[in-house]
Amino acid sequence: LRARREERLLGARFRYLNQQLYTGSSRDAAQLFRNDPAAFQLYHRGFERQVRRWPERPVQRIVRYLRRRPASLVVADFGCGDCTLATSVRNQVHCFDLVPLSPRVTVCDMAEVPLAAESVDVAVFCLALMGTNLQEILGEANRVLKLGGTLLVAEVASRFEDTHAFLKAMAQLGFRTVSKDLSNSYFYLLEFAKTGPARPGPAPGLRLLPCLYKRR
Ligand code: SAH
Repeated sequence: LRARREERLLGARFRYLNQQLYTGSSRDAAQLFRNDPAAFQLYHRGFERQVRRWPERPVQRIVRYLRRRPASLVVADFGCGDCTLATSVRNQVHCFDLVPLSPRVTVCDMAEVPLAAESVDVAVFCLALMGTNLQEILGEANRVLKLGGTLLVAEVASRFEDTHAFLKAMAQLGFRTVSKDLSNSYFYLLEFAKTGPARPGPAPGLRLLPCLYKRR
């Protein structure tokens, strides 16, 4: 009984943290976890429990994608979590997250990563487009990507309200849609190519609903 009560409490805290991550800016998230590293551990345990229910982990799709392409491509993994991507491919992978779950992680806010402009071939956001400042975060990916470089986004399908408007906004941010796999009922996998710097001005279509998990 006690174990079950603890489990419930953990579930509730996970959902609360998760909601904070989706409804605040990336900077708020950085602040939250800096002040409370234990919250981060708890968040990740909850995240693991969620994705284990899925038939396939989105990161495995990204792994397969990279294995089909040259291992010489340099990758930046925004919101890398436990670095599954980096440990599964031969490429050089820069891993960014708010708290290190692995020694490979460079701790930073994904809106401001310590990489030179136009230094990577592939930028990855695997279930990691969490902050409300999406335009800034994707602008950072644009900055570090080489011209023609690849942006991969895996996101929970139910977060997309208007996929067409989202892709139009991405074009404004300097990302041409190369392929979109909307066939998986859990998540979408989108591939973009960087066409140039982001065009200034608001991109109203760049909206993703928060991914709020139900109580189980
Ligand atoms: N990409 C991993 C983890 C996804 S969970 C996978 O697919 O398994 C989302 C990750 O994004 C979490 O590890 C979370 O800590 C990270 N994250 C959220 N906001 C962030 C921010 N502002 N800067 C860096 N990482 C962030």
